[in-house]
Amino acid sequence: MSIQHKIIAIPLCIMVFMVVVSFFFIQEFTKTNLGNRIETELGRTATSAIESFKTLSDQQNFAAIDELADRLGKASKARITFIDQDGVVLGDSKLSVNEVIKIENHADRPEIVGAMTSGLSTSKRYSSTIKQDLLYVAAAKVIDSNDRKITARASMPLSDIAAAVSKLRWIFGLSSCIGLFVVMLLGLFAGQIVNKAVLHEKSILENRVEDRTRIITIMQSMTGLLNTCASIDEAASVVNKIMPVLLPNISGAIAIIKSSRNRLDVLLSWGKDWPGRNAYLPNECWALRRGHQHISKANNLHIQCDHMNDDIDRQTICIPLIAQGETIGVFHAMNHDEDLSSEDIKLIASVAEQIGLALANIQLRDSLREQAIRDPLTGLYNRRYMLEALDQMVSRSERQQSNMAVMMLDVDHFKRFNDTFGHKAGDVVLSNISSEMKHNLRIEDTTCRYGGEEFCIVCPDISPEDAVHVAEKLCEAIRRLDLQHDQKSLGKLSISVGVAMYPAHGTTAGSLIQRADEFLYMAKEQGRDRVVSLNAANAIRLTDSKDTDTNQSVA
Ligand code: GH3
Ligand code: MG
Ligand code: MG
Repeated sequence: MSIQHKIIAIPLCIMVFMVVVSFFFIQEFTKTNLGNRIETELGRTATSAIESFKTLSDQQNFAAIDELADRLGKASKARITFIDQDGVVLGDSKLSVNEVIKIENHADRPEIVGAMTSGLSTSKRYSSTIKQDLLYVAAAKVIDSNDRKITARASMPLSDIAAAVSKLRWIFGLSSCIGLFVVMLLGLFAGQIVNKAVLHEKSILENRVEDRTRIITIMQSMTGLLNTCASIDEAASVVNKIMPVLLPNISGAIAIIKSSRNRLDVLLSWGKDWPGRNAYLPNECWALRRGHQHISKANNLHIQCDHMNDDIDRQTICIPLIAQGETIGVFHAMNHDEDLSSEDIKLIASVAEQIGLALANIQLRDSLREQAIRDPLTGLYNRRYMLEALDQMVSRSERQQSNMAVMMLDVDHFKRFNDTFGHKAGDVVLSNISSEMKHNLRIEDTTCRYGGEEFCIVCPDISPEDAVHVAEKLCEAIRRLDLQHDQKSLGKLSISVGVAMYPAHGTTAGSLIQRADEFLYMAKEQGRDRVVSLNAANAIRLTDSKDTDTNQSVA
């Protein structure tokens, strides 16, 4: 049963029940009360008829008495009869004078007998005169000093009383039916209103569920995409595309804390132009200072963060992006048209949580990967990374049919250097040599610490002459280094370099490294501080001035 039906049925049942109960009450009421009231009324009419009789000048004149009965009968709509104490009928409103004279004596009539003894009496019986069942009420009174009693009788057909009762029942029945009909109509109307309201609520709920499902689906796909992003920039482009769909009326920005932790840079923004600065200090954001979300306008307070433009009157929210207890940035959002709803704030908080976790994961993966591929002392790539990268570089050179140089470098007499100045000084030297390499190489060249004091450099798309020239430049740069440690000069340094060319010396990573190593060995053999390339016969010896070791001064 629908709500609409219940709304009609329940009051209708109550109404029907009340009507049935009332019907029985009314039945009893009309039977007893209406009968009693008519009886009382007839008694009053009879009594007042006697009073009227007393006013007659000739109380023996049948014609005058009958005329009085006629008048009183017309006025009261009852049959009025005057009877003297001997039962002689003196006048009757329903009979003419002649009929009255002929009518039989009424002394034995029960109502007359009763009235003569008690003053007022009632009876219900068949009238042989007018051939009807009648209700009689007779009143008897002494009318003169001779103790002459007169009875006045008012009567009414029982059929008239039954008709009045039935008329009352009809009126009640009809009004009940109209009442039921009105209740039914009202029920229908109320049912329709309730039904409309229920349908409206239902559609709101359905929309909300649909919206939630949409949001959950988008959030899931965002989390999935973010988890597969390899870098923060990739994650930024995913977030940038998803945010306008997930939070359509809301603009926002994500700022990331720099590794130095002294500044935040806005990584991305979406929606309308972000009305905040692109870089700010951590203490310019209340969310970062307090360690939890900050809503600029709440509880009649308006406390805007300093990183927002001054003229912002709208409510803004800043949520720290926290993962594994570490704050990695801040999620900013605002609605340009109105304040944020509590639903918006909840959604923004859970989006911020997801993004925070995803960015932290990427950062963690980044730093683990960096740790796995970088040498901690020099910051250069390690040998494992180089071997992997070299394979790809060989393939590329093969594809592009270009030359590529693989250089093996070794610091000359580094053991002796270490022994003289100590291991720490040796570390300083290695770190400075790697800096020199970074400065003297192109961005596309890859440098790695191959092991100990040995380095490997891969220069793609380079001619053999240029490769040797680069190696010479490096030797020269190292030769010119004048390092100090613990306020002591570390003396002169030199390196030896072997340069192998793709494809002239080898077409695989392994063969190229092996040839470069051979050339390096030759450089060492030939007196160090030099570059050797091509083959043994055509070895290029750079340092023509020295046959002796450059690090001799150290020894
Ligand atoms: P050569 O000119 O023939 O290359 O002589 P060398 O002394 O440089 O070569 P050798 O292989 O005999 O010695 C290499 C030294 O480099 C030994 C080791 O103590 C030192 N070394 C390797 N790794 C490090 C490092 O990380 N820090 C420091 N300070 N020294 C290192
Ligand atoms: Mg060595
Ligand atoms: Mg060495």
